[in-house]
Amino acid sequence: MSGVSKAIVQPLLDWYDAGHRDLPWRSEPTPYRVWVSEIMLQQTRVEAVRGYFSRWMNALPDIPALAAADEAVYTKLWEGLGYYSRVRNLHRAAVLLCEEYGGELPADYDRLLALPGVGEYTAGAVASIAFGLPVPAVDGNVLRVAARLDNDFTPITDAKFKKQTRERFAALMPSDRSGDLNQSLMELGATVCLPNGAPRCADCPIQHLCEGFHRGNAAVLPLRAAKKARRVENRTALVVRCGQLVGLRQRPKKGLLAGLWELPSLDGHLSPDELRAALTEMGWSVRKLLSLRPAKHIFTHVEWHMNGVYVELDAPAPTLTFVTPAELRDAYALPSAFRSFVSVLED
Ligand code: SF4
Repeated sequence: MSGVSKAIVQPLLDWYDAGHRDLPWRSEPTPYRVWVSEIMLQQTRVEAVRGYFSRWMNALPDIPALAAADEAVYTKLWEGLGYYSRVRNLHRAAVLLCEEYGGELPADYDRLLALPGVGEYTAGAVASIAFGLPVPAVDGNVLRVAARLDNDFTPITDAKFKKQTRERFAALMPSDRSGDLNQSLMELGATVCLPNGAPRCADCPIQHLCEGFHRGNAAVLPLRAAKKARRVENRTALVVRCGQLVGLRQRPKKGLLAGLWELPSLDGHLSPDELRAALTEMGWSVRKLLSLRPAKHIFTHVEWHMNGVYVELDAPAPTLTFVTPAELRDAYALPSAFRSFVSVLED
């Protein structure tokens, strides 16, 4: 048995050559397309990314176009993908690339790594897929494959395990097909060596080299360190109408959903009487309150348990910005946490 070793390289490349998913960013792997697709794919499924990717490329076809774009444009293109710091970093990096590299990504792993929002995985993916540099791209999928191949019970979140895995894959990189090897590993993790106890070992091109499979541990690996429980926050989210307009507010520049527009909300689950009293105290002239279906939204470290309330005002509340429903739809990127409430505006 060989685990992570040079023996896996050729079977993986042959398997990759024999057929892989047709992904839009693979058909034309320019550095910009690889970079944007990899940033979109962090925390988001491939199927969800397809539509976002083509809309993005139509609107912002190259780095100078991204660097010159308004915040409202690129956050709107990102709306629904979540983790908005990713798109802000893409823009910051594009500006920097225009200032320092003539609007191109550098063909250098360390320089890629120094860009805002680019970690070792993304730098490795761009360096190998777009520039053919022999560097690994090790993400959670590849760590899972490695733990199973080696029958290794170290938690894959362990920093030392990650570092060692990167070093071991670095030693395997072929000088001519590093991008394909990295993509074959990504493809294996996404379609065959699946997470959550469901690897499809019968379809695996490196089953004969897999220690975890031969020891009967494929489905129980990898080990995960126990996760910390998320903090639960109860909130009362408000769909505020004044005539035909909808009231929004902008979140603080730092922290969760930094700088994004949102529906106003108050701490806690307030009863109608409590809510009316709180809004009156804020100087809002409330005409009508109607309860909406509650919603839950899960972020990495916190869960919002939200009661929704439709609020009709007689006059615009001074602390809010009022927009038409069409403006809200076309020009404001509202975090998906609020999407179920906003659907009442479409009724
Ligand atoms: Fe993953 Fe199974 Fe292949 Fe091993 S044999 S790499 S566990 S799919």
